[in-house]
Amino acid sequence: MTSVLVTGGAGYIGSHAVKALSESGLRVVVYDNLSAGHREATRFADAFVEGEIQDADTLRSAIRDHDVDAVMHFAAWLSVGDSVRDPAGYYRNNVMGALAVLDAMVAEHVPRLVFSSTAAVFGNPVETPITEEHPKQPINAYGETKLAIERALPHYGRAYGLRSVVLRYFNAAGADPDGALGEDHDPELHLIPRAVDAALGRDSFQIFGDDYDTPDGTCLRDYVHVTDLAAAHILALESLRAGGPSARYNLGNGQPTSVRDVVDAVARVVGRQVPVAIGPRRDGDPAVLFASSARIKQELGWKPRFEHIDTIVRTAWAWRDVRPAGYRTAAQAER
Ligand code: UDP
Repeated sequence: MTSVLVTGGAGYIGSHAVKALSESGLRVVVYDNLSAGHREATRFADAFVEGEIQDADTLRSAIRDHDVDAVMHFAAWLSVGDSVRDPAGYYRNNVMGALAVLDAMVAEHVPRLVFSSTAAVFGNPVETPITEEHPKQPINAYGETKLAIERALPHYGRAYGLRSVVLRYFNAAGADPDGALGEDHDPELHLIPRAVDAALGRDSFQIFGDDYDTPDGTCLRDYVHVTDLAAAHILALESLRAGGPSARYNLGNGQPTSVRDVVDAVARVVGRQVPVAIGPRRDGDPAVLFASSARIKQELGWKPRFEHIDTIVRTAWAWRDVRPAGYRTAAQAER
C-alpha cells in the first residue's frame, strides 16, 4: 500500500491532518525532528521517522521504505516575530528545508505535494476579503520564505511534473473535537489559548493595541478550525490523485473577528471573565486580515464544519482544560 509522507506531522496542524488522513483510510508516515512537535501527537500515523528535512539520505529512505506517493509538507518555523529577529534561520528552515523536500521528491519520483502556506504572503491587505489574486507583498521574513516556495512550485511542475496544492492558512485555531489532539506551542503566543489560560486564572493576558481603525479598535482576524484545515488537505490530495491541476487556495472562514470578540467568546464558553490589560501594538500586525475561501469551496467542495467562534473556542478550551501542560506531563512542564 502506498503512503502519504507528512513532514511536521507531530506539529499542531500537521497532527490534525495525520488524523484526518488516517480516518480517510490512507497510510501515513510522519517525518519530524520533534524540535517543536510532540511524539504523542503522531499516534494516528502508521509510521514515524525522526529526521531533519535537510537530511537527504534519511528523507529519501523514508520515501522508498514506505512507498510514498504524496507529500504534505508542514515542517517549518512559524513565528512572524522570530522571523524578523532571525531571518537566516527562517530562510534555512523554510526555504532550504522545503527545497530539500522537493529535491527528495523529484529524485524519488513522488509527483504530488500539498504545501502549507500562510496569509502572511499577502502582507498588508489592499482589499478585503483577501482572494487568491490579492497582491503578494510580505512584510516579514516568515511570509517571504513561504512565498519563495510558492513561486518555485510552478517551475517544478513544468520541469519535473510535480503537481502541488498550496494552502494558505489564515488563523488556525481550535483543537480536535474528539479531544485526542490540540495546540501545544512553547511558548504559547496565540490569542485563543492565551485568553483561555487567562480565564482559567493560569496566566495574565494583554490585548495588543485597541487603537486600530476597526469597529472596536482591536485587530480583525479570520479564525479557522484546525479540523477544517485538515479536511482541506484531504480534498487537496484527492484532487491531485484524481489528476487535478496545481492550485493555490486561501483558507479562512471569511468572518472578520476582533480580539475583543474572541475574548468575549472565551468568557461565554468558559463561563468566567477574562482579565484583560491593554498593551501596545505588536510589531507586524496588520489591522485587518480575512479571507475569501470561495475558490476552494467551489473547486474542491470544501465546507467548514466548525465556523462559529464559540465552537472554535470550545474545542480549544476543552483541550487546554484537560491538558494544561499540553502533551507534556505536569512534571515535565515544571522543569
Ligand atoms: N493577540 C493579543 N494578545 C495576545 C496574543 C495575540 O491581543 O496575547 C492579538 C494579535 O495582536 C492579533 C490577534 O490577537 O491581532 C491574533 O494573534 P495570533 O498571535 O493568535 O495570530 P497571528 O494573527 O499572529 O497569526
